[in-house]
Amino acid sequence: MSKPIPFNRPLLTGRERAYLAEAMAGAELSGNGPFTSRCQDWLECTTGSARVLLTTSCTAALEMCALLLGLAPGDEVIMPSFTFVTSASAFALRGAVPVFVDINPATQNLDPEGVAAAITAKTRAVLAVHYAGVACDMAALLALAERHGLKLVEDAAQGIEARWRGRALGSIGDLGALSFHESKNLHCGEGGALLVNRPELIPQAEILWEKGTNRQQFFRGEVDIYTWLELGSSFQPSELNAAFLLGQLEEATAVTAERLALWRRYHRALEPLERAGQLVRPHVPNEATPNGHIYYVILPSREARTKAIGELKASGIQAFFHYVPLHASPAGRRFGRAADGMTATARAGERLLRLPLWRGMTDEPERVAGALARSLGVA
Ligand SMILES: *Cc1c(COP(=O)(O)O)cnc(C)c1O
Repeated sequence: MSKPIPFNRPLLTGRERAYLAEAMAGAELSGNGPFTSRCQDWLECTTGSARVLLTTSCTAALEMCALLLGLAPGDEVIMPSFTFVTSASAFALRGAVPVFVDINPATQNLDPEGVAAAITAKTRAVLAVHYAGVACDMAALLALAERHGLKLVEDAAQGIEARWRGRALGSIGDLGALSFHESKNLHCGEGGALLVNRPELIPQAEILWEKGTNRQQFFRGEVDIYTWLELGSSFQPSELNAAFLLGQLEEATAVTAERLALWRRYHRALEPLERAGQLVRPHVPNEATPNGHIYYVILPSREARTKAIGELKASGIQAFFHYVPLHASPAGRRFGRAADGMTATARAGERLLRLPLWRGMTDEPERVAGALARSLGVA
């Protein structure tokens, strides 16, 4: 059997070790030190966000969003069901109700018409999840938010280096959240960032980030003592995480280019299968500049997917399905509510298959495509 192909190989750029050594030689190892500032500066420069705060995860950044919006029990947040658990739990933790709507079957991203139909007097916010690092229809979502006085939050966990009409994902709505989990394009094991795009929300965001205190103001010499002002929590990653992350951020352009090249090779290799009606490839709208985070296909049925996963595994290739739709999960039913007709969501939940994609691949995309063709009975 030829060499196994894992689904992911966490990125190492080679720069992490020197930065970790530098952090360890310094006097500060807890949060909000020099490496945290360097990562935040880098992210502010590349995204254009007014203020970026590093967090321990994207989940933590989403929990900060829920606090910043001042959500109260019964408030509604419209979001896709085809997403990661914490897109919803971050808001449900504040007592808000996730209202799940369907996705566009071409992109697996929020369907703006579904969002419009789900707006009620209790709706406070819309959560745009940019699946696979491909931008949602932000023009439509921004217009809806404006028209109905809703906040727009971006779950850009998968969106580092990706853009919509030239603007960085996460920097377009009122607030955005990035992930630096091991499984994402750039990472520090576990990590994330909150993007505060509205200057008026910055003071409050800094207080939450400092465990609910005005420690930031104290450091800037604006107050003599710092004290408890708001409900915050422990959201800051240590300097060790930030040092590792800086070693990844500085390689971002090369990493993204390489991932996109691999993505395009999958897309070319699988074109004949799409023409033969055996699968559907992902669609990237013109205004989206993606980052090669995920290459996925939609297979004809759940059975075809189960068979493909098993046969790929037998050839040493790891391929995975993705989300179990949240509206059908036990907690999703308990804390949320779903719109009618979640057909594209159900389809993605049953038939979407993610293929291996990591920096350093050589002939793997074509080998995976060949194995997939054999499983579908085409080659
Ligand atoms: C990875 C991911 C998250 C969670 O990110 P963490 O950094 O692990 O908390 C949230 N939403 C989406 C869409 C994700 O892909």
